[in-house]
Amino acid sequence: MVRKKLVLTFPPERVDKPITYHLVKDFDLVINILRAEIHEEEVGRMVLDVEGDEERINQGIAYLKSQDVKVQEAARDITLDEANCVDCGACTAVCLPKALRLNNETWKLEFDKEKCIFCELCVKSCPLGVIEIKF
Ligand code: SF4
Ligand code: SF4
Repeated sequence: MVRKKLVLTFPPERVDKPITYHLVKDFDLVINILRAEIHEEEVGRMVLDVEGDEERINQGIAYLKSQDVKVQEAARDITLDEANCVDCGACTAVCLPKALRLNNETWKLEFDKEKCIFCELCVKSCPLGVIEIKF
């Protein structure tokens, strides 16, 4: 048995389809949905733990891709070195779920990890390299 954390990005025409149901039924996978949300442009994102036979997981991923779902293996954690952050806000521009945002009174960066979908886009956006991925 293997366990993977995946980030799925659904195009607008797929957000209301029972795609994760097929992962369970057709590929015998155990699914734990950690986060699911739809953004303004109606693109759906979901973070889930998938557990099962490795070959069946790979078949499930191939099925998702055949349904135009983008699949990324997710980081286990994202950490922010607050002591070295200069609150420039560059990372907030790439964070779609708004887990990273500048407080508009203090102009300090705030990180709400509950909203993070582990897409890793902020990591490259930080000029000081203070955001790190943990696998
Ligand atoms: S990984 Fe970074 S950019 Fe992606 S949701 Fe989390 S904080 Fe935002
Ligand atoms: S890009 Fe880096 S330095 Fe700028 S606010 Fe984000 S974490 Fe801080």
